[in-house]
Amino acid sequence: MEMPTPSQNVLNRKPELVKRLLSVLPRDAVIDHEAETKAYECDALSAYRCPPLAAVLPRTTEEISAILKICNEMQVPVVPRGSGTSLSGGALPTADSVILGVARMNAVLETNYPDRYIKVQSGRTNLSVTGAVEVDGFFYAPDPSSQLACAIAGNIAMNSGGAHCLKYGVTSNNLLGVKFVTMQGDIIEIGGPYLDAEGLDLLGLICGSEGQLGIVTEATLRILPKPEGALPVLIGFDKNETAGACVADIVKAGVLPVAIEFMDSPCIKATEAFAGAGYPLCEALLIIEVEGSKAEIDEQLEKIITIARKHDPVELREAKDEDEANRIWLGRKSAFGAMGQLNDYMCLDGTIPVTQLPYVLRRMNELSEEFGLKVGNVFHAGDGNLHPLILYDANKPGDLQTCEAFGAEILKLCVEVGGCLTGEHGVGIEKRDLMHVQFEPVDLEAQMQIKDVFDPNWLMNPAKVFPLSSSADRRNASSAMG
Ligand SMILES: Cc1cc2nc3c(=O)[nH]c(=O)nc-3n(C[C@H](O)[C@H](O)[C@H](O)COP(=O)(O)OP(=O)(O)OC[C@H]3O[C@@H](n4cnc5c(N)ncnc54)[C@H](O)[C@@H]3O)c2cc1C
Repeated sequence: MEMPTPSQNVLNRKPELVKRLLSVLPRDAVIDHEAETKAYECDALSAYRCPPLAAVLPRTTEEISAILKICNEMQVPVVPRGSGTSLSGGALPTADSVILGVARMNAVLETNYPDRYIKVQSGRTNLSVTGAVEVDGFFYAPDPSSQLACAIAGNIAMNSGGAHCLKYGVTSNNLLGVKFVTMQGDIIEIGGPYLDAEGLDLLGLICGSEGQLGIVTEATLRILPKPEGALPVLIGFDKNETAGACVADIVKAGVLPVAIEFMDSPCIKATEAFAGAGYPLCEALLIIEVEGSKAEIDEQLEKIITIARKHDPVELREAKDEDEANRIWLGRKSAFGAMGQLNDYMCLDGTIPVTQLPYVLRRMNELSEEFGLKVGNVFHAGDGNLHPLILYDANKPGDLQTCEAFGAEILKLCVEVGGCLTGEHGVGIEKRDLMHVQFEPVDLEAQMQIKDVFDPNWLMNPAKVFPLSSSADRRNASSAMG
């Protein structure tokens, strides 16, 4: 993975930078010792590593404003970081950058049940947002599988989704407002605790902008009353394609389950060995969850089961109680960890039209043979969001490069069938150089002009999202100033 050469000028000025950061932050908020900066050398795309020049852990929006003013004046790149669970290298530092981590900013600022919103500092973890309101019967809908660890900051930057987003939408559908600090240190409020804020839709621009435009410090999020009940059903098939066809039929029939999750045989085997969720060892599994009142659940399940039976399932298991429901989800939620026990893996993230599932799964198996690397699939099938997990051996020379090439072919396949390069993990560095496959130069230019407005010197989250060749002139102009 190519990264730009760090600015020697910035590296040389580290002592001055640290001194200035310490003038606006307490000692424990500035990490500049080489051994300690290694803790920030990567995110969950751990194949790529680079310790930053320093890391800062502010506690307030005002501290963030002061940090950014210093970095802007000294022309030092800044890499925003939530919990570092990005699977696309979105929070990967460069050697001349400062990591700005919001993990200490995790307070609940306001809860309003009549108007159904919660306001939190952006470092709060996803699951603990629901944790703050569930006692009163509410929840925050977007549920990435990493929800125990990932922060709302990262969720907003990546426009994250999760298993239940089929019904409730992704982060952008549940975000009402943000407090945001520009690279120049200006603090601005965008949106608020009401639907459809006035003015230009800057919230739509910020959500999914991958830390390219500024730092989100607070978020106002929509919360929903918990449904009366929910039940998953587990359906096993002897072929991936059959499971894919079943998903397409369910969606076509107009049934809207809250989640349709898919796992193939390598993932099922790994998950069973790891979590013992009681899954049948078949070729493909669907976990389909419906929710509502008992009557609504029964009606939806009946329709789903009727469709599934037409595809000759080898297993059809309705959860009888909460315990069984939890076991069904335990396997799905453990799948990534289970695959990680087998070997190193790279988790891809692309989106396809649901009707293309059978073809894409078949083609992916052919590519797996061609590249000689195994691939496991666990993904949000209901909205066509694939997560192929390519297994490789980081210690075997050339394996990472083969894995990257294989991954690139899968993502190109997604675009070829009418989908796109990313579903919910973002572009980061992982898909940066494939943006040419999805966008014409004129489209990329329009996107880069937006960045020019917010971050004229291209200091925010360098070397992500835009192909290096497309952004070279802008980055070079910036480093000439640094
Ligand atoms: C096991 C596992 C399962 C996962 N499952 C899912 C899933 O189901 N759905 C899903 O969508 N994702 C999933 N992910 C990916 C990841 O958890 C999400 O992308 C998540 O939103 C990242 O949040 P984070 O706080 O860890 O962000 P980080 O990794 O720290 O950063 C992610 C991006 O956000 C930017 N950023 C961070 N903080 C800020 C800020 N304050 N202001 C502006 N930009 C900022 C960073 O620069 C970076 O570009 C999974 C990851 C793992 C490891």
